[in-house]
Amino acid sequence: MRRRLVVGNWKMNGNLADNAALLKGITTQWPVAGEGKGNVDTAVCPPFVYLSQAAQALKDSVVELGAQTVNEHDAGAFTGEVSGEMLVDVGCRYVIVGHNERRRMQVETDAQVADKFHAALQVGLTPILCVGESEQERDAGQALETIGRQLRVVVERVGLEAFEHAVVAYEPVWAVGTGKVASPEQAEEVHRFIRAELGKLGPQTQILYGGSVKPGNAEQLFALPDIDGALLGGASLNADDFVAICKAAA
Ligand code: PEP
Repeated sequence: MRRRLVVGNWKMNGNLADNAALLKGITTQWPVAGEGKGNVDTAVCPPFVYLSQAAQALKDSVVELGAQTVNEHDAGAFTGEVSGEMLVDVGCRYVIVGHNERRRMQVETDAQVADKFHAALQVGLTPILCVGESEQERDAGQALETIGRQLRVVVERVGLEAFEHAVVAYEPVWAVGTGKVASPEQAEEVHRFIRAELGKLGPQTQILYGGSVKPGNAEQLFALPDIDGALLGGASLNADDFVAICKAAA
């Protein structure tokens, strides 16, 4: 049986004081006292500069640490960038690659996302590969075509077997940060499609849904057979909401 996974992407939010309160709020409520984490793994992905702070705060907790992106090179003259080895060094287990905000605003190409995915695996990080269609692509009936392309570029770069050590997150661009959520039918169709694209790795790969997941809609999404958890933006900045969604996944 696939484990559940709930990941919080803090994006460019937080400061030392707010992060300390948020992390304390999460770790004092999750896992539920006396119950252990059961089938649900959890992680938070703060901005780079706060990774060490979070690592320290999470050291006695079941909540794991992730980063929001990684550079595809090992080391060298890449001003402002952070390597996979550095992320491991400060205690990360996960790294998000190909988030739509980076694909759009940092103009990351499918090929570059594949290189980042590869770089993460090389150092033992678990990449969380984000895929998802824009509103125009969905309206034009091209959602699956877009997602298929985003996935295939990575599979061609690293091979199917690599997905044994990776997570996929379906994040419809039109649902991220907008308050619009994919309907259960839309989400389930894409998750099933991703599983089929992953061939023999499909049944065992964790596939998360991301896009305006809140405590009020999490349970309905997690009831779907091919949704294994969530990648959260806004809801991960509130400890009560984050923990409520972890409980819904349990
Ligand atoms: C995200 O940024 O990955 C995300 C899912 O954001 P939100 O939950 O705010 O839509």
